[in-house]
Amino acid sequence: MNPIDIPDTLRLVDHPIARNTAVATRNLPIGSVVLTEPVLTSVLFPDKTGSRCDYCHRSDHTEPELRIRKCTGCEVQWYCDEQCQKLHWDSSHRLVCKAYLDFVMSRVYLALSDDQMMDCLVLSQLVAEITLRRPESATAILTFESLLPSPHELEAIPVIPMRRDPPPLSRIAALYQRFPNNNHVIQIHLRPIGVAILPLTSRLLNHSCSPNAVLRYILSASQKPRAEVVTIREIAEGDEVSIPYLDPAISYPERQSRLKDIYGFECSCKLCTIQLPMNIRSIAGSEVLGLVNALEPALHQFAFGEGITADFQLPEEQLCVRLPEDFRLLMDDPVLSVLTTSFSIASDEGPFEMAMSTGKTIFAIYLCIYPPCYPQIGFHLLEMAKVAWNEYTKENKRGDVETANTYLTIARRILDVYGREGDSGGPLDEVNELLELIRTSEEQE
Ligand SMILES: [Zn+2]
Ligand SMILES: [Zn+2]
Ligand SMILES: [Zn+2]
Repeated sequence: MNPIDIPDTLRLVDHPIARNTAVATRNLPIGSVVLTEPVLTSVLFPDKTGSRCDYCHRSDHTEPELRIRKCTGCEVQWYCDEQCQKLHWDSSHRLVCKAYLDFVMSRVYLALSDDQMMDCLVLSQLVAEITLRRPESATAILTFESLLPSPHELEAIPVIPMRRDPPPLSRIAALYQRFPNNNHVIQIHLRPIGVAILPLTSRLLNHSCSPNAVLRYILSASQKPRAEVVTIREIAEGDEVSIPYLDPAISYPERQSRLKDIYGFECSCKLCTIQLPMNIRSIAGSEVLGLVNALEPALHQFAFGEGITADFQLPEEQLCVRLPEDFRLLMDDPVLSVLTTSFSIASDEGPFEMAMSTGKTIFAIYLCIYPPCYPQIGFHLLEMAKVAWNEYTKENKRGDVETANTYLTIARRILDVYGREGDSGGPLDEVNELLELIRTSEEQE
């Protein structure tokens, strides 16, 4: 029996190193959905407890009409309504509810690391799903168990005691052994909220730091969160579809070491191939601003030519493919982390000129590293537009409105590709709201 339910957009072909590669069965335009998969199981991070529903994961911040209430059985899980509570109960929670509270207060649980605690809750819920043997989960469970295990032998972790006989310990250990290299962090509006098991996505899609597709999550009432793989470039028939397992902006040595350690492979994607011979040396955090000041004007000229206008043409591919040698240091650690910290401070406290110039440099570096329609770039341009709009509301200079409008227009082109995700709100809505404010302010002029 073949446990993989391949969508008609993809075909698996053999690969000498990876198990398989998934290639497109036809030309896929930018912004198309290649694969849709409801999570087999998912658990929120502890800081989301009580503000998001433990079943559908919608938030009462973005949907204030939601009343998220505790499960009175365990007082640990929270639901937006009775329907979600019932669906979660039927799919797994009824086997663990009674023991949940005692378990999370127990010495054995509290002795675990934060990551292990998270794994332990995901594993407990997965084991409960498996124990219940519901037909709707059967294929996904088979697919999950067919995934490659982590290259490292993991120490066993406990699971919440079940109200029915769980599978044997050896099977539970084999499930856990597939966590580190297969589980996904759920991002809503580009922020992490929890961990999901997506067997089909894990089975089909390989990693690239220069990906042509990304994952987004859709949250709807009375449904498990649903992952969608969406293309961020045109993909030709026969080309491999790949997603990033980690942020491509992580420095090259760090990326390679994490990929090797967690997934057991060396990446030889386009970005890695370019960054390998660059032999980037590590620079000290204290050197970053000096270096950036020296290189900034030339880097802006290289990345933006005559300047940034609303009809700014995004490059065809990452600028690193033709990056002059002088700028290579800017792709090194810790440049981006120093710059994003300094951008966020200057955005809040000023000076405005510094925030905008640092923001532009981050934009230029993102264009070097990320594919042009990578959602993180759109998100950053929205942040820049907000800074310009805030400056306008303080200083009332029309030039700042134009700047805000320019960045929003480019941000919208990028975020339209990523499309709607999460529950309500999110960067695309914010872009449209701010554009509307600008239109209104222009009409009043
Ligand atoms: Zn819900
Ligand atoms: Zn409960
Ligand atoms: Zn790579």
